[in-house]
Amino acid sequence: MRVDPRRMRERMVDEQIVARGITDPRLLSVMRELPRHLFVEEAMAKQAYMDNPLPIGEGQTISQPYIVALMTELLQVEPGMKVLEIGTGSGYQAAVLAKLGADVHTVERIPKLCETARDRLRSMALFNVHVKLDDGTLGWPSIAPFDRILVTAGGPEVPPPLVDQLAEGGRLVMPVGPARRLQSLVLIEKKDGQVLRQDICGVQFVDLVGAHGW
Ligand code: SAH
Repeated sequence: MRVDPRRMRERMVDEQIVARGITDPRLLSVMRELPRHLFVEEAMAKQAYMDNPLPIGEGQTISQPYIVALMTELLQVEPGMKVLEIGTGSGYQAAVLAKLGADVHTVERIPKLCETARDRLRSMALFNVHVKLDDGTLGWPSIAPFDRILVTAGGPEVPPPLVDQLAEGGRLVMPVGPARRLQSLVLIEKKDGQVLRQDICGVQFVDLVGAHGW
């Protein structure tokens, strides 16, 4: 890239993320540091810091930077927490969670994306991310319970296994709603055995495909 990626990241964070109200200083510094252009194909590197999602192959996308920031801030991740992500895609969101100090477990259903993301995260020495090829709507029962769960694809409902695998005091964030139309970003909190649900805003994600998806 001829343009300095560090400067592009600074602008991305200031103009797209801080300007829209994200304030978590640890998250902002991770997004200023993490080389997002290495999570897309080289031909698209220059577009990596733009205010939109980008194709990553197999009909899937890497989410818009602001949406990554919004979902991550809602999740309130602390170092050492066990986090489950459904929909590894490029691995960018998993890398953000890992840089926040979480122990990240991420599930992807498309083999090629799974392999590429695994190699990419390893080459960046992000050894606190574990990538699995599977249907993520079933969760990751052998590792559960999780302090935090993030679903980065839109489904008709929150898959019941994910609610079961959420720890007491845990938070889950997921786009819920009709396929390829406006969905609602939902925050679920498990408190005193109760499951509380809050709708945050409208979003549009690729489809969650699986036993508890489309
Ligand atoms: N978090 C990604 C973007 C996700 S795009 C990033 O940072 O790049 C959504 C991803 O969810 C796609 O890669 C898609 O293949 C995957 N997906 C859809 N349904 C899934 C399921 N049931 N289990 C695991 N992954 C799924």
